Amino acid sequence: MQIGFVERKGNVLTRSTLKCLSQVASINPTLGCIHQCAYCYARGYSIYPGDGKVLVYGNMPEKLKKELSRRKKLPAYVFFSPTCDVLQPIPQVLNSTYELLRILLEYGVGINLLTKGRIPSKFLQLFKQYRELIHIQIGITTLNRDIQKKTEPFAATPQERMRNIEQLCSRGITSEVKLDPLIPGLTDTQSNLTALFRVLQGFGINSMGINYLFLRPQIKKNLYKALGKTPFLPKILEHYQNAKSIHLLAEQSRVIALDVEYRKQSYEQISELAKTFGIYAYVCGCKNPDITEEPLCGINWGQHFETTAKQKYLF
Ligand code: SF4
Repeated sequence: MQIGFVERKGNVLTRSTLKCLSQVASINPTLGCIHQCAYCYARGYSIYPGDGKVLVYGNMPEKLKKELSRRKKLPAYVFFSPTCDVLQPIPQVLNSTYELLRILLEYGVGINLLTKGRIPSKFLQLFKQYRELIHIQIGITTLNRDIQKKTEPFAATPQERMRNIEQLCSRGITSEVKLDPLIPGLTDTQSNLTALFRVLQGFGINSMGINYLFLRPQIKKNLYKALGKTPFLPKILEHYQNAKSIHLLAEQSRVIALDVEYRKQSYEQISELAKTFGIYAYVCGCKNPDITEEPLCGINWGQHFETTAKQKYLF
């Protein structure tokens, strides 16, 4: 593993290329992510530094302070983070993330944070202190450690993510689950989801975003590397035989998505199943533009903060 520092030249708060976040201020405190998920689209970006390499923008906290002090309008909330996981278990990353969070929260700016990492206790204390400004999404699609280890080798284990959820919920911190991406034939099975939903229900989780895996050449390559020696890969690829290239609203690019009828039917079944556990499941609109335009995740999150934050500005 190689960790380095790099200077941030442009603004700290940026607009994401993801359509659902295009009106939202977002932060990417690092280049690269140590979790190395096989399905990660960011691993195919030209700025990705390579597997096992993470570059931290060391000057971001100082720059953020200056940027906020110059702004006439503060954003209602900031999204952490479209192309990396800010809770990667690397001290330099965690220190920088903590500082960024603290600065924003002291300014009264809300935080939306999506993670597949472990949440350190120092962060939990900070979240509790600013509870009304915090919205956390835990990415998880299975409780099966074997599947998780193969597809997300260096991310938190399912048990650790459940512990995150438990600790967040017990502190009254708004948390949601993101089933993204579901892998057909692997994590979208009734038995896998029933086991997961049952545990989530126990913690009082009542909302989740869902989305299926889409393919790009780099993602396919990484899936071969991660699952090539298992019986899973041919089963997964079989589902993509009738796949179509769609224009992903999330970015100005096309991806190979599962057949629209398959997705529609499956999202419906998953939503029904989730409902029996008291969980409302919504389809991620920006990644399924041929099925739904709403609710876009950014709008959902925005609503949460509009009622809790004094500011009305997304960016
Ligand atoms: S945690 Fe997110 S950013 Fe990191 S490798 Fe996995 S999908 Fe990519």
